[in-house]
Amino acid sequence: MTSASPTASLREPITLRLLDMFRIGPGPSSSHTVGPMRAAGMFRSRCLARGIVPARLEVELRGSLSATGRGHGTDRAVLAGLCGWEPETLDPDAFLALDEMLRASPRIGWGETSVPLHPDDVVFDRSRNHDPAFLPHANTMVCRAFAADGSLAFEETWLSIGGGFVQTAGDEGGAKRPPSEPVAPFWSGASLMAEARKFGGFGEVVLANERAWEERPGELEEGLERVWAAFEACIQRGLRLTGSLPGDLGVIRRAGTLLAQVEAGRVGESYRVIARAQAYAYAVNEENAAGGLVVTAPTNGAAGIFPAVMVEVAERLNLSRSAIHRAMATGAAVAMVIKTHASLSGAEVGCQGEVGSATAMAAAALCEVLGGSVDQVERAAEIGLEHNLGLTCDPIKGLVQAPCIERNAMGVAKAWSAAQLALNTGGKGIVSLDKVIRVMKRTGDDMRREYKETSEGGLAVNIPEC
Ligand code: SF4
Repeated sequence: MTSASPTASLREPITLRLLDMFRIGPGPSSSHTVGPMRAAGMFRSRCLARGIVPARLEVELRGSLSATGRGHGTDRAVLAGLCGWEPETLDPDAFLALDEMLRASPRIGWGETSVPLHPDDVVFDRSRNHDPAFLPHANTMVCRAFAADGSLAFEETWLSIGGGFVQTAGDEGGAKRPPSEPVAPFWSGASLMAEARKFGGFGEVVLANERAWEERPGELEEGLERVWAAFEACIQRGLRLTGSLPGDLGVIRRAGTLLAQVEAGRVGESYRVIARAQAYAYAVNEENAAGGLVVTAPTNGAAGIFPAVMVEVAERLNLSRSAIHRAMATGAAVAMVIKTHASLSGAEVGCQGEVGSATAMAAAALCEVLGGSVDQVERAAEIGLEHNLGLTCDPIKGLVQAPCIERNAMGVAKAWSAAQLALNTGGKGIVSLDKVIRVMKRTGDDMRREYKETSEGGLAVNIPEC
């Protein structure tokens, strides 16, 4: 590894928004469910803005969206987006029934009128064509609106780039641009640390920028409260529900069982420290696998780690609302740097970009809550990410269940340890956050395609027959 910063040539301030790192939406995948729904919704809006009333709609899923889209419910998410449904506000029960509903009655509202839409209008490309002209991103979808004579009225190619972020080939369609330059500019882990020393912590840097950008006082806090409420609701629902998860893997919900073991005092003292948080992670990821409402933190697949650690520590230490908001902003700051210089997408860099990033976010936030200095918080994030380097994305049958659910529980353990190692071992680490992000990017670039959310490698093809 060289000593140069990964950001040496890139000094543009990061303008990603805090609430864009925590998007509320249905499971099981931010890149394969939330992103495609948002892209399909934007395509619908653009058709409406142009006065296009299609006689037929078609969305073609390519690359990883085609390889694992069935297991991830990408087709249903696209249909919901074409209906104009928003990830944050949709009714989860109606969402799960949408396919059946459209088979029975294949029309949707379209401005003042209605247009035909059938589940078969979402098509899975099976060509395995990896030509960049055909597949500009691992998660590519082509949206088409046809006129009554069969001619193409409008076509757009959308890319789902991870964490629910989307863009077209030509312009940014995802992140909300801020109205002014950041008051606390940062473009790397090192510059984030410099601003954190001035503002009093990683989280304070992001909060200072967001407060300068909010349209009315209190808007930011309301948004953070909505996200926190979604964290808690998801954990509670996941702990309550029992039975099997959707799909034919036969995975049983285990969150409630683990918590019951903890509450009955049946787990050893050494494990009790993280057992409750791991039960929370199971709860979130079981909800995610079932298509329930979760929060990208920073993705759906890795949605359990950050809320599990933060809700557990908030309960244990009775954290104030401002401490909770600061911790959320600290986690988001880490995710912003990773997203800017590497990726949060399993389809781009493997699971190191999802579970690795979530572990780094949780480690940094926990370290800060426990009184860590700026150096210690950076070290916690670095340790959390470093020990996930090389982690592949290999969901069995394309379902975000195995290894994903357990992997989130293990992410909790790693985040907890990373925060404690940073707090208690002293001195400076020899690997900075910036360096480990660069290594993650290179590792992801070198990783064979089979290990990047295609269900063609790793556990996805090597589980023994029972
Ligand atoms: S293996 Fe990791 S990156 Fe892949 S779907 Fe599961 S959680 Fe996401």
